[in-house]
Amino acid sequence: MTSVHPKVSRYKKSEVVSAHSKTAHSLEVRDKRYLWHPFTQMRDWQAEEILVIEKAKGVYLEDSHGRRYLDGISSLWCNVHGHQVSVIDRAIRDQLKRVAHSTFLGLSNPPAIELAEQLIHRAPAGLTRVFYSDSGSEAVEVAVKMAFQYWQHRGHPKKVKFARLTNAYHGDTLGAVSLGGIDLFHHLFQPLLFDTYAVPSPYRYRWPSGDDPERVKDEALSAMERVLSEHHEELAAFVMETLMQGAAGMIDQPVGYISRARELTKRYNTLLIFDEVATGFGRTGKMFACDHEGVTPDLLAVAKGLSGGYLPLAATLATEEIYEAFLGGYADCKTFFHGHTYTANPLACRAAIASLELFDKNQVLKRLQPKIAFLKKRLRDFYDIPTVGDIRQVGFMVGIELVKDKKTKTPFPLAQKIGIRVIEKAREKGAILRPLGPVIVLMPPLAMKERELSQLLDITYASIAEATIKN
Ligand SMILES: *Cc1c(COP(=O)(O)O)cnc(C)c1O
Repeated sequence: MTSVHPKVSRYKKSEVVSAHSKTAHSLEVRDKRYLWHPFTQMRDWQAEEILVIEKAKGVYLEDSHGRRYLDGISSLWCNVHGHQVSVIDRAIRDQLKRVAHSTFLGLSNPPAIELAEQLIHRAPAGLTRVFYSDSGSEAVEVAVKMAFQYWQHRGHPKKVKFARLTNAYHGDTLGAVSLGGIDLFHHLFQPLLFDTYAVPSPYRYRWPSGDDPERVKDEALSAMERVLSEHHEELAAFVMETLMQGAAGMIDQPVGYISRARELTKRYNTLLIFDEVATGFGRTGKMFACDHEGVTPDLLAVAKGLSGGYLPLAATLATEEIYEAFLGGYADCKTFFHGHTYTANPLACRAAIASLELFDKNQVLKRLQPKIAFLKKRLRDFYDIPTVGDIRQVGFMVGIELVKDKKTKTPFPLAQKIGIRVIEKAREKGAILRPLGPVIVLMPPLAMKERELSQLLDITYASIAEATIKN
């Protein structure tokens, strides 16, 4: 395997090098002095050498020491066209000459209007309204509140509950956590959460009655139907990630699964909410994951890739039927009382418009297809590594599940931090990855070229082998 760490050696004069590393050292010290990082055990953080990313170009990140790394997780699943994309940079600069921010509560702005039109134009048929917010968690919260309020206005006061999949991740605000099913993140907060009905997600690799695909699909769908048929009178909506449950460790859904979810929710008079925060904007090979089966949910939450990975922006798309249920006289109080200070920020909306235009201009989805096939082909080799138990891929979303024993599927003990060990190796070799427990995630920017993908795969392969085999 090639080692590609392109240690940048352009600082020829030694005094420049030392000035550079002095700054880097100072940044590290001040980070550790003043910050508290998300989803991070800060005791480990304090003990480690940390990376401070100073700049990025294309699919490479560069740290404060001038070392370059492939961005193997799209800067947490959001980057689409790479970094420093001139069209997006320019769109933001142009908007800065007009206005950086003005409120969306009671006022409007041109980028938000233009983007909404574009989104509806590209979204699955039947979604006609865009409600903006700032993060994926909020886009889900909005969908939940809309679904809840919808039934109240429609005269179904008992429809106040939600169904969701096990292993789900919908964000980390309390409403989104209530819908979540990842014990590690969610269990502690139980007393603060609302109750939901859990439907087992079709996790084939660890399905109780074996991993035959047809059987898993049938049993998972029967379980879904059971929950809907038993509880529909009190169900406002069924919430699910679409085609792939991301944060759970990339759990893919069988063909036909989301279509069936649509049929069943219709039959049992329950709204269907698709959380496409991770899967939207080309990630799965189509603009939205639900496009693979031509399915339209009642509410669609999007975020991560919306602004091309540039600025915080999210949206909840709704059908006209839901929208109309909120219309009424001022004193009827049917208003949707939700909105934040930075809702529909014009800079973020401009970035998003530029990103969507690039999808057309660069034929992103078309050019993605051979790269998806390339990934698939190359990933097969990973099964040669004795610790690789399962590989799951949908488009440019990949999860490689590591196990201590392939035959028995026995996981590595948590304390062994197996995923962390792999990504540390990858860092040494010049790629940034972030694991989900024992699952190594690959989420390259859609713009990543085949040559760069190949490099990323080489690094990942070698890192897994080196970090896991000796045990
Ligand atoms: C990341 C993610 C969220 C949360 O989005 P944030 O922008 O981090 O709040 C919600 N749902 C899914 C499926 C996600 O992957």
